[in-house]
Amino acid sequence: MTTGARSMGSDRARETVRRLQADITSGRWPVNGRIPTEAELAAEFGVGRSTIREAVRSLAHLGMVEPAPGRGTFVRSLNPVRGVLSDFVEAHSWSDILAVRKALEVQAAELAARNADEDGVERLRLAHRADVEGGGDTERGRAPGQFHALLIELSGNKLLAELYAGLGAAIRAGRSRGTIVSGQDAAGRQADHATLLAAIAAGDPAGAAAAAAAHADHDLVATD
Ligand SMILES: [Zn+2]
Repeated sequence: MTTGARSMGSDRARETVRRLQADITSGRWPVNGRIPTEAELAAEFGVGRSTIREAVRSLAHLGMVEPAPGRGTFVRSLNPVRGVLSDFVEAHSWSDILAVRKALEVQAAELAARNADEDGVERLRLAHRADVEGGGDTERGRAPGQFHALLIELSGNKLLAELYAGLGAAIRAGRSRGTIVSGQDAAGRQADHATLLAAIAAGDPAGAAAAAAAHADHDLVATD
């Protein structure tokens, strides 16, 4: 009896997590928006407040929501990919992590060449110019990082962007520890970016993919 009651309870808890997760993923509340109170959600879902509390805790573990004591619970990510990846990716070798990053960069470049509109290409051009005019003073890769972030955005693929963001947290940690370093100087990086930018502006997916692959082979390298 008790086993049955408990499994019914956990079925309801799982269903509540699933529903709440689906609502967040579908964009019912925006990122950084506040979800309804425990009492409101309990009434809406027809479950107890403790079930809602448990569901919110599960989604907080996945990095999708963040409870702010006294202020409510805020949406932080529309899906759990980024939070889960950034927690587990560091169990892998840096060279494996960089190889996956390369795959994402190449795919993003190909998609950007297909999908980017004039405005997108112009933003990429401005990011490149900011890097060049900054004289290569990167402040740990801020200007070049902006170029790469835009490239991912211009792919128009949100799942790819989430995967990249999940890897990005680990890569930043690797860079601050010195286990991942830049394998080229500012002039080399800017020449690579110029080639990539030209291929995207020309709407050349194969050229963009090749340029991204060549660049990924030496813009960041693992030292271990
Ligand atoms: Zn780069």
